[in-house]
Amino acid sequence: MYRTDKSKQLFERAQKHFAGGVGSGTRSPASGWLPNPVYVDNGLGSHIWDVDENEYIDYLVGGGPLILGHRPKPVIEKVCQTLQERGSIFSLAHDLEIQAAEKISELIPSIELIRFDNSGTAAVQRALRLSRAYTGKTKVVRFEGHYHGWSDQIHWSNRPPLEAAGRRNAPRPIPNSNGIPEELAGTLIVLPWNDIDLLEKTIQAHKYEIACVITEPILGNTGGIMPQPGYLEAMRKLTAENDIVLIFDEVLTGFRVALGGAQEMYGIKPDLTTLAKAMAAGFAAAAVGGKKEIMDLIPKGEIMFGGTYNSNLVVTSSVVATLDELSKPGVYEKMNALGVKLAGGLVELAKKAGFPASWTGVGSMFQLWFCEQNELPRDYREAAPIIKRSPFSKLWQGLMERGVLVQPRQDNLFLLSTAHTEQDIQTTLEAAEAALKNM
Ligand code: PMP
Repeated sequence: MYRTDKSKQLFERAQKHFAGGVGSGTRSPASGWLPNPVYVDNGLGSHIWDVDENEYIDYLVGGGPLILGHRPKPVIEKVCQTLQERGSIFSLAHDLEIQAAEKISELIPSIELIRFDNSGTAAVQRALRLSRAYTGKTKVVRFEGHYHGWSDQIHWSNRPPLEAAGRRNAPRPIPNSNGIPEELAGTLIVLPWNDIDLLEKTIQAHKYEIACVITEPILGNTGGIMPQPGYLEAMRKLTAENDIVLIFDEVLTGFRVALGGAQEMYGIKPDLTTLAKAMAAGFAAAAVGGKKEIMDLIPKGEIMFGGTYNSNLVVTSSVVATLDELSKPGVYEKMNALGVKLAGGLVELAKKAGFPASWTGVGSMFQLWFCEQNELPRDYREAAPIIKRSPFSKLWQGLMERGVLVQPRQDNLFLLSTAHTEQDIQTTLEAAEAALKNM
């Protein structure tokens, strides 16, 4: 029997202290967590137990970071040992940051130089500033449906209402929050993703103003939409030819879709890369890195790059331990194979229950869409109407009541970890079959 009494009580208590009763919008009732947020007691491996003693197979994995599952022993041990034997932060240099940097540059060759940070939002902010300083230009090209953190300068047109978003070939930048200065609209060029012609025309028309193009190389923040064949390659070519910095925001895809991220999958070298989440298996690590020539603006004194918590021992020891685990043979093959099995199984079951169904993404990061394969969205504008009519929230609820935790929204993702097992997939598919029958 699925119970929520204690979660409900805690939510009532929390509402007296937290704005909206939660620490972050993504776990709030407004984001689909109805009737109240799930209050977790603990997690282990691929499972979570809540305060009402419900057990779940977890496909949130902390929003992406828990690539090794909950409480991964080698990482927890390394971090605890570092804390107990050395300390947490010195605001001085140390060997662990070098070890972490060496590992990352070995796995992601486009990263010639790196700096650590503490959130994806901050790393993106640094990349934008580096691009502007390097090119001497101001404008940023960003794409509808992509998420690059919540800072004023980039948190625009993530999920814009289409009525307000203007024409497809000239979208209007829409701020994602009140309190963002309208004036910043002039620093952005917003485009639909996956359209080579429009990107080319835009770059030709504005090449003397555009400092950078920033993209999620796989569109994790709109249900795992994949780049069309040749799109990222065209983006690489057009930016290189026009003195524009190409930023791959691999905060979600880095160390998740492959050991070397999406850039390894597609064989493309961006100028700058932002990393976070899976890099540290649950600790607040992020990084920006890339071409030496661009990163060298920092030691030249042209770019201010400060931060009390940068490169601290918790961050860097967690990165070292995580990347050691992820570098073991067969890790990605197993995780991706389980994800593909789950995604394919969900599609089959949904079809059996009478729904059109297909999936996008890669094994460790995918989404089930209630549409035919040939209707799968290629950009946010195509996704928006499918999302609007999607019965996904019913599947979410049916799964949750049967011990499977996924993000409630159609535009989110199923995320796997290396801790997920064949048995988890089997149990999830059984829960999905029952949930779909009731929809
Ligand atoms: N970029 C991408 C692609 C992301 O998915 C996210 C977080 N979901 C961010 C940036 C922001 O990262 P953070 O939440 O650590 O600030």
